[in-house]
Amino acid sequence: MRIAVFNTKPYDRCFLGAANTAGHDLHFLEPRLDAATAPLAAGHGAVCVFVNDVVDAPVLETLAAGGTRLVALRCAGFNNVDLTAARRLGVDVVRVPAYSPHAVAEFTIGLMLAVDRHIPRAWARVRDNNFALEGLIGRNLHGRTVGVVGTGKIGALVARSLRLGFGCEVLAADLYPDPALEAIGVRYVARDALLRAAEIVTLHCPLTPDTRHLIDAAAIEAARDGLMIVNTSRGALIDTAALIEGLKARRIGAVALDVYEQEADLFFEDLSNEIVSDDQFQRLLTFPNVLVTGHQAFLTEEALTAIAETTLASVSDAEAGRPLANRVDAALIAPMR
Ligand code: NAD
Repeated sequence: MRIAVFNTKPYDRCFLGAANTAGHDLHFLEPRLDAATAPLAAGHGAVCVFVNDVVDAPVLETLAAGGTRLVALRCAGFNNVDLTAARRLGVDVVRVPAYSPHAVAEFTIGLMLAVDRHIPRAWARVRDNNFALEGLIGRNLHGRTVGVVGTGKIGALVARSLRLGFGCEVLAADLYPDPALEAIGVRYVARDALLRAAEIVTLHCPLTPDTRHLIDAAAIEAARDGLMIVNTSRGALIDTAALIEGLKARRIGAVALDVYEQEADLFFEDLSNEIVSDDQFQRLLTFPNVLVTGHQAFLTEEALTAIAETTLASVSDAEAGRPLANRVDAALIAPMR
């Protein structure tokens, strides 16, 4: 099938190319999909898009008029797609529901260690021939109380690694406790109790109405002094304004973020020659105890391979008229918001 791959980065070209054993006709396009670029997909049976492409009703109408019958998301989330319009226009939508939870779990532990032991600051000093250690004192992870919010595929790996690898006290909050984690000493408690007791909180639940801003001013007020917060899940789990106030008040000890509430305007692009107008984001970067990465926890060879293979397998299924195992179902909309 002819596939218009929007928002292509060099690594997409590399991994989709390698996974294309079925011989699909991949047309790599650098622009992001939106109303202005949608006509580029004319004559392509499928389009392949990422988290920040715009797949709203007007875009879908242009795609459908040009002959597109499949939108293949090379990611798990689909909040950027108007599923009602897609259904009305007869356009199927597929995604990659799970790729490598290890990729995100390992990056989470990496962020935790990096911010706690001041590794980026130390590296910056050494590059400047500044070998002074003042200000770089960290804490052992061993023996500390870590709260894991959401113990699904990623959170379970993080909890297991902290418990068995580092010897932490691990508290967990989830709607569905995992008996395998309980068996290794992970203790499930109510989310509020977790937020009050933990020295480190790491977020691995999806963004839903119930979890939006779960770290807000009240949670920060109730938390232990010096709390470390790690978020590799979704930016809007944290109220950024409250986070900044908590940092300014020295109530929060450290923050490591791979995701940010307003990241759609920033991440995945080189803005080093631009004026960034997001004052909240710029303020976050000024704190010595904050570490931010640009939504890269998924970015491993294994995850990119799985994303490429799953995406192209879905296209092959659509072309052959087979059932679409990874079709985005309306029933998923509420929990995945
Ligand atoms: P998952 O569906 O396997 O696990 C999510 C867990 O959260 C489930 O156990 C669920 O019961 C629990 N949960 C749901 N609502 C909750 C609530 N209100 N309170 C506590 N727990 C709740 O998902 P996963 O694959 O482990 O992914 C976790 C998150 O990581 C995803 O939501 C996604 O946003 C994020 N993610 C980030 C990256 C990245 O590159 N930074 C990559 C992949 C996924």
